Amino acid sequence: MLVSAISDHDRRTSIMLDCGFSVKEAERRLARLDMLPAEVAGIVVTHEHGDHIRGVFKFARRYGTPVWLSYGTYQAAQADSHGVDIHFCRDDEVFSIGELQVHPYTVPHDAREPLQYCISSSGCKLGVLTDVGHKTDRIVSALSGCDALVLEWNHDAEMLSNSSYPYSLKMRIGGPHGHLSNAVAAEILREVDKSKLKLVIAAHLSQQNNKPELVERLMADVLEGAMIEIGIACQHQGFGWKEVR
Ligand SMILES: [Zn+2]
Ligand SMILES: [Zn+2]
Repeated sequence: MLVSAISDHDRRTSIMLDCGFSVKEAERRLARLDMLPAEVAGIVVTHEHGDHIRGVFKFARRYGTPVWLSYGTYQAAQADSHGVDIHFCRDDEVFSIGELQVHPYTVPHDAREPLQYCISSSGCKLGVLTDVGHKTDRIVSALSGCDALVLEWNHDAEMLSNSSYPYSLKMRIGGPHGHLSNAVAAEILREVDKSKLKLVIAAHLSQQNNKPELVERLMADVLEGAMIEIGIACQHQGFGWKEVR
């Protein structure tokens, strides 16, 4: 995912949040957003699972892009980071990349030291939450007061339990360190302070165990009557630029 901010002086900073694709695919996706790889000022990594980290170090090495991640993620990834400019970050310690302030917060997920991030610039705040097993007070407070949210709606609990997945995988995904069910995602969206919220994008939907129309309906239920735009990121296309002021 790509996040950009443009300052009052027209200075633009863009960062990539995770890179689960090959370098080639990442380049293709950047081109679709009219971005050159060299314009990415940094890669911020949530955790070591392949769908988030696969292309990170290769991309960083090729383009000299600095990488931010937790020490636990770095250790667990066991990736070849030779020649990569690595910065360690930790829960609740804000750091800056150009015009962007990045605030890491901890989440329950079956990874070594997973972090999710809120990213702010000029008083505008984006909250991102994927790969999380259950709702915590910390998550609700971190995501409160955002102008935009990207929120995991992974699975419908009933579709998951009726799926052909092996029992152990069902337990992992649906467990307290797995992924967010639609019901829990809806609960988080219900509980966060939405006074500034203008945009919510649902992400990390399971292709087998969820339906975009189900997620859309649940989001609309929670947000009923509010002037908040909703969208769904699909795995193949992602989504285009969304502007929030
Ligand atoms: Zn994931
Ligand atoms: Zn994960």
